[in-house]
Amino acid sequence: MFATLSDRLADTFKNLRGKGRLSEADIDATAREIRIALLEADVALPVVKEFTRAVKERARGAEVSGALNPAQQVVKIVNEELVAILGGETRRLRYAKSGPTVILLAGLQGAGKTTLAAKLAKWLKDQGKSPVLVACDLQRPNAVQQLQVNGERVGVPVFAPEPGNGTGDPVAVATASLEHARRTLHDVVIVDTAGRLGVDAEMMQQAADIRDAVRPDEVLFVVDAMIGQDAVSTAQAFLDGVGFDGVVLTKLDGDARGGAALSIRGITDRPVMFASSGEKMTDFDVFHPDRMASRILD
Ligand code: GDP
Repeated sequence: MFATLSDRLADTFKNLRGKGRLSEADIDATAREIRIALLEADVALPVVKEFTRAVKERARGAEVSGALNPAQQVVKIVNEELVAILGGETRRLRYAKSGPTVILLAGLQGAGKTTLAAKLAKWLKDQGKSPVLVACDLQRPNAVQQLQVNGERVGVPVFAPEPGNGTGDPVAVATASLEHARRTLHDVVIVDTAGRLGVDAEMMQQAADIRDAVRPDEVLFVVDAMIGQDAVSTAQAFLDGVGFDGVVLTKLDGDARGGAALSIRGITDRPVMFASSGEKMTDFDVFHPDRMASRILD
């Protein structure tokens, strides 16, 4: 395993102990360790560079004061910068002012969209909302059924094309779901879209067509935290092809260090809003930048 950022910094700081302030050489040594650790955690190079620059600047200007020794001071700066780049406070969902709130989920096949759709529905239901799930992934065999099974697990109804109509038009299904939600007094509509194993133009166009038809209040890009450096190119492709307002990181129960979170935020400037961390419907929470910062550091 790679050394963690905290380990690396601790090693560097052994040589700093007892010094009153950070010299330029100390700052350079620290920056080097941060750079290596972040690259090892699969953070995209431009984000690493910008982050390291920001930490160096603050470390240079920092007063070495009071209770903290220089080493602690740098850890504090790194932590604060991580939290800042990850978005500071958690961004909340935006609800429609009138009519049902529409949340569109987009992402690659296998990212965890269908699972996430049900988790999000449960989370909303627990907050007193009345969500409905909409099956617009008509590409992947069993996706509709999987959504129905998950919907049942969380007690949320699923709006889907009639059985046997597997080649249905997802745009028509999405459009009809809004009318259905209004009629049945559901106040949040969660639309699950088709993904492919890799980014392709047809998939993007379909998601964009659904977006244009339902005019979502939030488009959430769902991404597997384990895909490392690929997170950046995938996020960029979805940003260009569909556009999105926020990010959901999935599979955080794996050993991904969180590099994807930092990269996506740094490159797309869209906040990570939710975190999915397991196969159970309760393995879901709003994203906490401070927790992710600790994960990246430790
Ligand atoms: P979709 O193709 O994007 O709809 O992805 P699915 O929801 O079908 O998920 C793909 C696989 O990942 C399934 O086997 C899920 O059970 C699994 N999965 C989804 N979310 C998580 C998660 O947070 N943690 C883990 N460990 N597995 C997950």
